[in-house]
Amino acid sequence: MRLTRAFLPTLKETPAEAQIVSHRLMLRAGLIRQTSAGIYAWLPAGWRVLQRVTQIVREEQDRAGAQEVLMPTIQSAELWQRSGRYEDYGKEMLRLKDRHDRDMLFGPTNEEMITDIFRGYATSYRDLPRNLYHIQWKFRDEVRPRFGVMRGREFLMKDAYSFDMTMEGAQHSYRQMMLAYLRTFQRMGLKAVPMRADTGPIGGNLSHEFIILAETGESTVFYDSEFESRDWADTSLGYDDVPALQGFFDQVTSMYAATEEMHDATAWQSVPEARRREGKGIEVGHIFYFGQKYSATMGLSVAGPDGTTVVPEMGSYGIGVSRLVAALIEANHDEAGIKWPDAVAPWKLAILNLKPGDAGCDALCEKLYAAFPDQAVYDDRAERAGVKFNDADLMGFPWQAIIGPRGAANGRVELKRRMTGEREELSFEDALARLS
Ligand code: ATP
Ligand code: MG
Ligand code: MG
Ligand code: MG
Repeated sequence: MRLTRAFLPTLKETPAEAQIVSHRLMLRAGLIRQTSAGIYAWLPAGWRVLQRVTQIVREEQDRAGAQEVLMPTIQSAELWQRSGRYEDYGKEMLRLKDRHDRDMLFGPTNEEMITDIFRGYATSYRDLPRNLYHIQWKFRDEVRPRFGVMRGREFLMKDAYSFDMTMEGAQHSYRQMMLAYLRTFQRMGLKAVPMRADTGPIGGNLSHEFIILAETGESTVFYDSEFESRDWADTSLGYDDVPALQGFFDQVTSMYAATEEMHDATAWQSVPEARRREGKGIEVGHIFYFGQKYSATMGLSVAGPDGTTVVPEMGSYGIGVSRLVAALIEANHDEAGIKWPDAVAPWKLAILNLKPGDAGCDALCEKLYAAFPDQAVYDDRAERAGVKFNDADLMGFPWQAIIGPRGAANGRVELKRRMTGEREELSFEDALARLS
């Protein structure tokens, strides 16, 4: 992408309405644009990040054995009347009427719809277990939308739903999702801690929230710092190994971690003092086991191996995909701007031509740009070097290749790593090798 042709607007002024750093930086770096309260358009750079985050979530869901579907954003009220949630959900639900005066709604979540869809096909125990997910826009008419996409009204969520024959099966599905979540967040370089959570109005009896520690978080949390040193990527732990997954789950849940509502001051005392982490956190994911709540109300049942009728056990598993973009910035920024982790960066590299029009600079920049056609932003604007440095730092590309007349004359490129600030001057070939 050449900056002279790109739509990558940046703002010099800090927008007055933005109270937290991620919101300020998302506006200043041109990632999002508010179109009405709590509703945002995603501009090219933001959209690329959102798609990369989405893709990591998708790959880890697939790896865990879940299958992707896409359900609509608009649902019929009738589905929700069957489960009884049409009244219960209250004002957070955006209610609509179609031209025939039928009650519709913009989906805040999809338990009813997926159960109804699955009911149309599942007839016997052979059709279970299954786990279906989608990544779709949700609408919740939040009382106080704020902090940009962190608490929007329209937001992108990954929601998965599992169907099992038995409670033990459902617990296994739950553990699979817990592992998939830990791997998902780890791939993004985030330390998200699963904390035992209140099951709230959705009902049921087993639930964890995945929380990232950040000063701007809205939940108060307590956890054992042991969590931070764990590596979940070890692929020798497979998703189908029931005892191994149980062992993993027992290990995770034996470490103290709780939100304020579930905090137990006595158990907290047993965590060594140096390992106690206490602060504010951002909820980026939430998993629930809720048994037969929706299968029973939505009329889902299948024939068991012995011919008896079984009402499946269910769970649901959410990730705040658009919220994650903001959470990633809360975790990775400095005074100058965003510091995107490699895994989610909109572009890997910014090529800063310090003197457009200088034949040597132009040629070397073009050569480097040609090597990374989809992964580089080429700052070919007729701007001062300072402006280019500031914009590249603000937008947070993991690498900057700085090319000025003196270096270009000798075929040399200066590389800067945004995350650490390290710089080095290299030959063109060495720079290519470093970036590949
Ligand atoms: P919160 O406590 O922040 O209101 P929630 O508990 O109501 O979230 P869930 O129903 O658990 O949300 O939805 C799954 C995930 O969707 C949450 O963990 C969160 O990451 C994300 N999410 C929920 N509400 C919003 C919102 N208004 N804007 C952005 N993401 C959201
Ligand atoms: Mg909420
Ligand atoms: Mg919550
Ligand atoms: Mg929640």
